[in-house]
Amino acid sequence: VPELPEVETIRRGLEPFVVGRRIERAAIHDARLTRPFDPAEVARQLQGERIAGLERRGKYLAVRFESGRVLLIHLRMTGNFRVSGRDPPDGPHDRAVLRLDNGSDVIYRDVRRFGTWLLVEPDELEPYLAERVGEEPLDDVFRTATLAARLAGRRAPIKAALLDQRTVAGMGNIYADEALWRARIHPLRPAGELERDELRRLHRALRDALRTGIARQGATLSNYVTPDGERGRMQEEFKVYGREGEPCPRCGTPIEKIRGAGRGTHYCPNCQAFPTSVRSEA
Ligand SMILES: [Zn+2]
Repeated sequence: VPELPEVETIRRGLEPFVVGRRIERAAIHDARLTRPFDPAEVARQLQGERIAGLERRGKYLAVRFESGRVLLIHLRMTGNFRVSGRDPPDGPHDRAVLRLDNGSDVIYRDVRRFGTWLLVEPDELEPYLAERVGEEPLDDVFRTATLAARLAGRRAPIKAALLDQRTVAGMGNIYADEALWRARIHPLRPAGELERDELRRLHRALRDALRTGIARQGATLSNYVTPDGERGRMQEEFKVYGREGEPCPRCGTPIEKIRGAGRGTHYCPNCQAFPTSVRSEA
């Protein structure tokens, strides 16, 4: 599942191929991609638009057009892009193709078909995102106080709070586990009970884990590849994620996997011990 570093890698890979180009022809083969809107109508609307920028907000890709309209893309489980020359062979999971004015095709592929394309008018974008996505964790304005404000009073486990996109934009299962290990915080601690120094460690850990992910071009576990067809290498850097039973890189204690926030959660029971003084029903 693409999280912030994977989506950012896709954005960086795609950007040089699409910015400044005009969409000559659009074809959307899967009605699920644009529902409840008619895919043929969305494709018609896209034709003629010139791409002014490719941005990322949380796990969304935002294709900004010169007209001011924005195509907001969420890749969900398995959405991905590739760029190819004119008329490449159809892939079985290709859901949409954008023919650009230089003759190249931008192909959207999605095996599981959970991805979405939403074309919004200029004044619709910010209200739409404001309801769904919190601050960007790698922006300068994202400080420990920002994180603290988002977690204050919340009784949900910190792992669950981090997966809520309104807490930290772009977080997902992998980077939440990695960040909590870096910060030495038990994943089931109530989010609102973290101490000041724990919040500081977590703020730094979130950013470090995400930056490492971007530097390694994300994690390739199954379907994710970068737009130039490369595998990301972040999985080689995992400290706890997917390492159940292996020794903790910090203390050697076997990594455990539990259920947290309805997701498999990996942590070190020694480095990330639940403090006995504040133990509560998780
Ligand atoms: Zn440990």
